[in-house]
Amino acid sequence: TYQGMSKEQMLEIRKLNCNAMTMKVTYYKKPLFIHQGFMQWLWDVDGSRYLDMFAGVATVSLGHCHPKVTKAAQEQLQYLWHTSAIYIHPQIQEYAEKLVSLLPEPLKVVYLTNSGSEANDLALLMARLHTGNFDAITLRGSYHGGSPLTMGLTSNTVYKYPVPSSLGCYNTMCPDVFRGPWGGSHCRDSPVQTVRECSCSPDQCQANDRYIEQLKDVFATSVPNRIACVLRRTHSGGIVQYPKNFLKDTYKLVREKGGICIADEVQTGFGRTGSHFWGFQTHDVVPDIVTMAKGIANGFPMGAVVTSEEIARPFAEGLHFNTFGGNPVACGIASAVLDAIKEDRIQENCAVVGTHLLKELAKLRDKYEIVGDVRGKGLHIGVEMVKDKESRDPLPSDAMTEILEDTKDMGVLIGRGGIYGQTFRIQPPMCVTKDDADFFLAVFDQALHNYTERR
Ligand code: PMP
Repeated sequence: TYQGMSKEQMLEIRKLNCNAMTMKVTYYKKPLFIHQGFMQWLWDVDGSRYLDMFAGVATVSLGHCHPKVTKAAQEQLQYLWHTSAIYIHPQIQEYAEKLVSLLPEPLKVVYLTNSGSEANDLALLMARLHTGNFDAITLRGSYHGGSPLTMGLTSNTVYKYPVPSSLGCYNTMCPDVFRGPWGGSHCRDSPVQTVRECSCSPDQCQANDRYIEQLKDVFATSVPNRIACVLRRTHSGGIVQYPKNFLKDTYKLVREKGGICIADEVQTGFGRTGSHFWGFQTHDVVPDIVTMAKGIANGFPMGAVVTSEEIARPFAEGLHFNTFGGNPVACGIASAVLDAIKEDRIQENCAVVGTHLLKELAKLRDKYEIVGDVRGKGLHIGVEMVKDKESRDPLPSDAMTEILEDTKDMGVLIGRGGIYGQTFRIQPPMCVTKDDADFFLAVFDQALHNYTERR
C-alpha cells in the first residue's frame, strides 16, 4: 500500500476518475507506481529503483528534485507564491534578463506561460498579428500542443479530434531521411549516420531539396502565397533529424512569403543537444519567435515565448493577461535551472554522454536486425525499430511494448514515439553519467536479445 491505498485502489480510481478514459498511454502492462525521485533515479512504491532515461518526456531537465532547484523553490515559497502581473516582482525581471542573455539578437521580449501549448498559442497569435496573414505551416508528425489552436498545428492523428480545431494550419512532409521516400543521411555533424548511403554533396542534400519542394507546393496550392508563420521543432516527433540546410532553406522561403519563423524548443532547448544551448543553433538559423516549456523549470509548470520588440508590438497593443504565467515560484525555479545548467556544466555533459550513447547505440543497430536507425544529438536520441532492415516496416506495437516492458523490469525507463510508435526515445535528465549510459546500454542490449531469442 501507499499512504493507505492499495495499487488496485489506485488503478481503480485512475480508471474511473483520473483522465484514464482519454489518457490511454500507460506504457506498461504492469503499471509503474512512482512516488519518489532524485536526479536520474526514480523509486516505485515498493522501493525498486529505476534509471530514468526519459525524464517525463525531456521535462525533468536537470534531474528529479535537483537540490539547487528544490532549494530555490523552497526559498521562494516562504516569500511569495503569487502576485498579479499588475505588480512588479523581482523574480520575473531577473529571470527575463537571464533568459534573454542566452538568446541571440533580436530576441529580447519574454512572455511567460504555464505550458508549451499556451506558448505556441501565443506565438501563433503574435505571428498573425505581426504579419497580417493567417496561415501556419508545421511538419507532418509533429506535436505542438493539445489546446484547440495547437491541435491544428499538431500533425499526428493520435492527438486529433474530429472538430475544426484550428483553421489555417497546413503541414508539409517530415524530412525523414530514414523512412521518407528520398533517403539521404542525417547529414548533420551527428556522430552516427543513417545506414543508407548518402549521395549528397557536403553542402547540399538532394533529399533536402525535395522536401523544400513540398513546402513550395503548399504555397502554390493551399495558401494565398503568403503565410503568417512556420513552426518547426529542431528534431521532429520520433526525433527525426533533418537533412542539412532544411531549416535554413525553410526559413528563407517562409520569409520570402511574408511569414515569420517560430522555433519550438520545448524539448530541445536548455543545452540538451550538447553542442548548443538551443536546438535551432544546431541548424545555424535565428528564429523570429522561440517557444519553450518542459525543461525550462525542471518539471514545474512553466512555458515561455521570446521574440523581438518588432514582432511583439502589435500584440502589445492589446491587453494580454495570464494569471499564473511567470509566477514568482516558477520564475525562482527557472532561474535556478539556468544557474545549475551553467554551474554543473550540463551542456558539456549532454555532449559527452550523448555522443557516447549514440556511438554505442549504433553498435546495437549493427548487431540487431530490428534496430533500423539511431539518431539524435546530445541527450535527445531516437532509436527506430523495424521488422527487418530490408523492409524498414515499423516494428509492430506489441513488440515495442514487450521490449519496453522488459527494459523497465530490468530497471530502466525509456520513451516511445514516432507516427507508428516505432521509435524508442532516450531523453534523460541531463545529469546522467557515462556509467548510467552504460547501464542503460547493457539493459537495452539484453532486452533486444531477449526479444530476438523469443521469436
Ligand atoms: N511542443 C512540443 C515539442 C512538445 O513536445 C510539447 C509537449 N509534448 C508541447 C509543445 C506542448 O507542451 P505542453 O504539454 O506543456 O502544453
